[in-house]
Amino acid sequence: MVYNCKKCGSGRLKIDQTYPYHDIYECQGCNHSTHTRIEDCCRKPFPITAIIRYDHDRYALYHQCLTCGGAEKTKPLKSKDYSERIRGNFNQDRFEEWKAEKREESNMIYESLRHANYKNTNAYKYHAYLQSDEWKAKRTLVLTRDNNLCQLCKTKPALDIHHLRYDNLYNEPLEDLQALCRACHVNLHRKEFLKI
Ligand SMILES: [Zn+2]
Ligand SMILES: [Zn+2]
Ligand SMILES: [Zn+2]
Ligand SMILES: [Zn+2]
Repeated sequence: MVYNCKKCGSGRLKIDQTYPYHDIYECQGCNHSTHTRIEDCCRKPFPITAIIRYDHDRYALYHQCLTCGGAEKTKPLKSKDYSERIRGNFNQDRFEEWKAEKREESNMIYESLRHANYKNTNAYKYHAYLQSDEWKAKRTLVLTRDNNLCQLCKTKPALDIHHLRYDNLYNEPLEDLQALCRACHVNLHRKEFLKI
């Protein structure tokens, strides 16, 4: 089943990984990952007609998969159509195991995709960049150039590096950067935010 990317709308989704009950798709446009649950109970469905007996004349019939124990237990099969085809007892333990396995897999995938998709955000990339040796070296050069002095108040020692522009982010020349003290830096961004 092919979907469009929920993030960028591109139709270029490629199966990245398969799990017993889910497929993971990765968008070739923006790397966003999504998952879908498979439509059948498992990869190798083998349904039989199985019976649950409540007492000697009350029973219900369901299709249950011999491979995985999965079943659609919402509506029983019509006994007039299926009572001749009963192949065994409904295995409630296998059914519960199948449900638990699917749920566990879906929780695990949800967590890992949340992490993978967060690593793909600009916020994460920016945060990672600020931890990089490349940025630390650049920071030192700017502080040295500006004599460790805040370039706005020219009195307090500079602790922060401010981006005068963001268009060269991750590859910024030193002219795009300015050493500031914490107070001036916070103040500057507050003014920018309020547009005053
Ligand atoms: Zn996309
Ligand atoms: Zn199955
Ligand atoms: Zn200052
Ligand atoms: Zn700044």
